[in-house]
Amino acid sequence: MKEKKTTEAGWNFDDSYTSLPQTFYRKQMPTPVASPHLVILNGSLAESLGLDTDILQSESGVEVFAGNEPPEGAEPLAQAYAGHQFGHFTMLGDGRAVLLGEQLTPAGERFDIQLKGAGRTAYSRGGDGRAGLGPMLREYIISEAMHALGIPTTRSLAVVTTGEAIIRETEQTGAILTRVASSHLRVGTFQYASKFGSEDDVRALADYAIERHYPEAAGAENPYLQLLNGVIGRQAELVAKWQLAGFIHGVMNTDNMTISGETIDYGPCAFMDTFDPATVFSSIDRQGRYAYGNQPPMTGWNLARFAETLLPLLHDDSEQAVGIAQDAISEFPTLYHAHWLKGMRAKLGLFGEEDGDKVLIEELLGMMHEQKADYTNTFRALTFGREGDSALFSLEAFVQWKKRWQERTGRQPESEEDARRLMKNSNPAVIPRNHRVEEALEAAVERGDLSVLERLLRVLSHPYEHSPEQEEYCAPAPPSERPYRTFCGT
Ligand code: AMP
Ligand code: MG
Repeated sequence: MKEKKTTEAGWNFDDSYTSLPQTFYRKQMPTPVASPHLVILNGSLAESLGLDTDILQSESGVEVFAGNEPPEGAEPLAQAYAGHQFGHFTMLGDGRAVLLGEQLTPAGERFDIQLKGAGRTAYSRGGDGRAGLGPMLREYIISEAMHALGIPTTRSLAVVTTGEAIIRETEQTGAILTRVASSHLRVGTFQYASKFGSEDDVRALADYAIERHYPEAAGAENPYLQLLNGVIGRQAELVAKWQLAGFIHGVMNTDNMTISGETIDYGPCAFMDTFDPATVFSSIDRQGRYAYGNQPPMTGWNLARFAETLLPLLHDDSEQAVGIAQDAISEFPTLYHAHWLKGMRAKLGLFGEEDGDKVLIEELLGMMHEQKADYTNTFRALTFGREGDSALFSLEAFVQWKKRWQERTGRQPESEEDARRLMKNSNPAVIPRNHRVEEALEAAVERGDLSVLERLLRVLSHPYEHSPEQEEYCAPAPPSERPYRTFCGT
């Protein structure tokens, strides 16, 4: 590895990805843009990365975010990957993103710094390689909200406008998001290696993933099985957290699922308001493949595609390899369920474990579904004993349920105060509600007014605070004739 020096802004790039075989990437400079302008910078994230926020906001800093002038030491590249999109296998790759480099932080961590919307690459197919301001700010808001909720995710460092228009259904302001990820390795990266590369390529990728994300697997008897188990474990925990928060990803294609266990690729995602397992927001998900209630089984499906790519590494005998993979994958539903149940117990202030807990939780969810109750606010109301006039709370069945819930909490040695604290820390006051996100985006994109977005971000940054400032952000959207729809925005 050649000597790299830290720049004045604090960029300290390494490029371990280029140690992989050449088929995994193409060197690719971002395409310069006409007239970049910084819209938003994530100061606290910048600092944790070892970056100087004053320099980042200066002209030279903005040129980096725009892709006009990669920092010294950067060797930008576009990554190859494939994936199942809505069940259909396709060759994909970074069609509009460029990896600037891997930032080594003062704490000794390594993060991918990626420019999303940085121009065409070898993998762009028919696309223009660009992104719009609305969708990039949307990713910024939701990813930062997810982080604050305690859900593993890629982060957003900055958004710049390019000074160039992009053509979609209408003309949009062009923008670039700087995305920070513990890596951009995807299930689709393994599918690419397996389908288009050699067994050695898959092995090189698996070894790289182990070194970067599962170092403990390296010493195992079967490191590749450990890798598989590691990814299954992290994804089970991740999707449980999505379910508990009411997050709907919207486009859980295998290329949008990471090996690290972080949420990635915020396109048509949104948070559920009224509790209904069939909830779908994405306009392109017509069959409801990625509906709220389908997210756990879809994660399992994606993990099975991952396991398939590892077969030649799992055992020399292909039948035995399939057996090993199937055994590992068959653990997923149990692992998922355990994480979900643990999280649901916390949401209801339940310590310890009782056999009846699952039924108690399911009965509540059943009533919430029937009564079209707001998911987040129902748990908030239970947390603070402020049940208000929602239809759910006046049901006789609910009154009976509440009695059983109180009996259950009454049997635990922990105090009421402990239970309340657990509930406060497990039930967010605020989520990025769709109408609030739209309102912030409209002000920023249509009127150049960022104050609405900044206030929303501030409120979302402490979701478990339950402060008076958050109160007005807790209200569900006013009733609307049309269901909320999200678009890919590509
Ligand atoms: P996504 O739906 O964001 O996961 O993207 C799916 C694929 O389409 C990825 O390979 C992207 O890089 C590619 N893509 C999305 N938008 C564009 C665009 N404007 N130009 C080129 N490629 C794109
Ligand atoms: Mg994607």
